Amino acid sequence: CGVFGVYAPGQDVAKLTYFGLYALQHRGQESAGIATFEGNQVHLHKEMGLVSQVFSETILNQLPGDLAVGHTRYSTTGSSRVVNAQPAVVETRLGKLALAHNGNLVNTTQLREELLRRNWDLITTTDSEAIALSIATEINAGKDWLEGAICAFRQCKGAFSLAIGTPDGLMGVRDPNGIRPLVIGSMGTSPERYVLASETCGLDIIGAEYVRDVEPGELVWITQEGLASFFWAEQPKRKLCIFEMIYFARPDSIMHDETLYSYRLRLGRQLAKESPADVDVIIGVPDSGIPAAIGFSQASGIPYAEGLIKNRYVGRTFIQPTQTMRESGIKMKLNPLKDVLTGKRIIIVDDSIVRGTTSRKLVKALRDAGATEVHMRISSPPVTHPCFYGIDTDNQDQLIAATKSVAEIAEQIGVDSLAYLSWDGMLKTTGEDTNSFCSACFTGDYPITVPEQVKRSKLM
Ligand code: 5GP
Ligand code: SF4
Ligand code: MG
Repeated sequence: CGVFGVYAPGQDVAKLTYFGLYALQHRGQESAGIATFEGNQVHLHKEMGLVSQVFSETILNQLPGDLAVGHTRYSTTGSSRVVNAQPAVVETRLGKLALAHNGNLVNTTQLREELLRRNWDLITTTDSEAIALSIATEINAGKDWLEGAICAFRQCKGAFSLAIGTPDGLMGVRDPNGIRPLVIGSMGTSPERYVLASETCGLDIIGAEYVRDVEPGELVWITQEGLASFFWAEQPKRKLCIFEMIYFARPDSIMHDETLYSYRLRLGRQLAKESPADVDVIIGVPDSGIPAAIGFSQASGIPYAEGLIKNRYVGRTFIQPTQTMRESGIKMKLNPLKDVLTGKRIIIVDDSIVRGTTSRKLVKALRDAGATEVHMRISSPPVTHPCFYGIDTDNQDQLIAATKSVAEIAEQIGVDSLAYLSWDGMLKTTGEDTNSFCSACFTGDYPITVPEQVKRSKLM
């Protein structure tokens, strides 16, 4: 999901949020929503669909206020329905709160049981509502916004990057492992105006200046007095989702002081070093495989060319909820360039193989377009385990690498050779401490304990 928040009295906060969400659209295409605070009053609009479909000028004009939070949804828990759209707005003793969540909790069942015990009517089926109501429970028991929120966060297990609007200020939070990203931007001082966004591309679009990341286990509280920071987690331990770096986040977003484009280029170079092949041309799978393909070409000296043209108006195939939709999505999405491919031995580079359905179809399309040899190179290791922290890599039985060897996968997708980047190569190429990432979908080593019952729902 994409989350966004802005504290900017006197500015058109709804429109700023709209643009922010527009830049974060790749993080979720199911539904979009904005809540604005005008004193104690909350204005909310959320619907199924893309940001550009959900909002119009007229609707944005009906969302006045000094601060806003927004959300683009990609469903990992709860079904794909409008009641599950965010921000989730909840009434408390101190007024309403509006919460936008990216990530996935692993103890939703316990939180929901506790909330039901306290006689809350649970409207939606999401973990995000459970967080919002847990905060409300603490507030209603007499705590203030900060104490109440912190108390609730300590009960949450899993991944959560949050932007929370209240009548008194805007809150930005990351779980103790900082699994999902969240950054702070500035829109000027006197008065101080701040922005929260899942990625820096959400700051760029509105001309906000990147200040820093919200740290794992940190809460930032933005009010008319400026930005205050609280470290509420007992043992914060950075475990950023490596998939954000490899695939999910936009290539122009900055993590660890560089664009992800640069990281992905280096992944491609590393891949060329680890698994070269003698071919005529390197192509990438648009869009996410392109930087690594260019890096592969740079390191190998083999020319890079565009071999597949993407229809930019079709959403990410992976995010469409059903397998049937996914399978029909891919046909609409990529078209091979015959003139580039005919009579050529090619390497095709992609960022990952999840189910293998995209890859199999692509390989067939490339051969139909005249490629004489097709070698596939993947800029991450085999995905063998499902994600419980907010990326919908589906159940383990859907993951091709969970049951098949690399040779078997190569055969199934119909390539002349297949190689994946090593786990070491993927992590060392970050240039960061290799322990500061979650890479559980490649190893099964989950940094936040997943309860047995939850594990069973997705593991074979
Ligand atoms: P497959 O060959 O497994 O069917 O699809 C792999 C392709 O799906 C890759 O190009 C990858 O960029 C894309 N993809 C889309 N969404 C996701 C996602 O959430 N996770 C992963 N790993 N790949 C995704
Ligand atoms: Fe990211 Fe994989 Fe960890 Fe999920 S399991 S948070 S996709 S690295
Ligand atoms: Mg891709």
